[in-house]
Amino acid sequence: MNRSVFVTGGSRGIGLAVARAFAEDGDKVAICHRSGASPEGLLGVKADVTQAAELEDALRTAEEAHGPVEVLVANAGITQDTPLLRMTDAAFDNVLRTNLTGAFAAVRAATRSMLRERRGRVILLSSALGFLGAPGQTNYAASKAALVGLARSLVWELGDRGITVNVVAPGIIATDMTASLSDRRMEDVMRMTPLARPGTVDEVVHAIRFLAGPGASYITGAVVPVSGGLGMGH
Ligand code: NDP
Repeated sequence: MNRSVFVTGGSRGIGLAVARAFAEDGDKVAICHRSGASPEGLLGVKADVTQAAELEDALRTAEEAHGPVEVLVANAGITQDTPLLRMTDAAFDNVLRTNLTGAFAAVRAATRSMLRERRGRVILLSSALGFLGAPGQTNYAASKAALVGLARSLVWELGDRGITVNVVAPGIIATDMTASLSDRRMEDVMRMTPLARPGTVDEVVHAIRFLAGPGASYITGAVVPVSGGLGMGH
């Protein structure tokens, strides 16, 4: 496809699989992440999405190498689960600043060139649990539900410039993020999942690839579940 693609949190899990899939399609892919080494074969930039200036620099580096960003996947996300009465302000803020403010900052940085070019695709990673809620996840669920409001406002602001904004809401996907879930919690969630199994990163990749591709040119403001039916109807 040869587009300039930027993925936040592209060093592991869903973000890495998405980045590799776009690269296999022929796109020029840059990713940002906080720690560790950058994945081979991709342009990796160290940037913490909670630091807007780092993110702006990362986008600049990507655009110098690959041209104006045409596809943004705002994927970087964390959990810091704690029951309400033990949830510190810091734990609440951390999750909101990464999952919500980080996505906002990435969109703001990436859409400058999209607005100039009058085209672009923005995909935000929410979660089925953002709509269902989950014990111990007041911070995470609030951040993921808020992404829908963010996306729907962006849809209005950016639509007449040819930019689409969509949200992907995965259920439980086998990655580092879910590896620490207790067996009991996993069983509980599987009972609420009609397909009765966790999803794979590839199943999320398919939805993101579609939303970024030519077949989705008239889709904007959608919340696309990739959740085996978990939370359907929300
Ligand atoms: P992982 O924990 O496997 O990977 C998270 C990625 O985000 C890593 O690349 C990590 O980089 C990066 N990241 C985290 N914080 C920051 C930050 N402040 N700045 C830059 N990069 C950061 O997560 P998943 O792949 O499982 O999840 C990806 C997205 O999908 C998240 O938004 C998550 O909420 C969402 N999601 C995941 C589900 C699941 O079941 N796995 C279900 C529903 C939604 P580093 O290596 O440097 O830490």
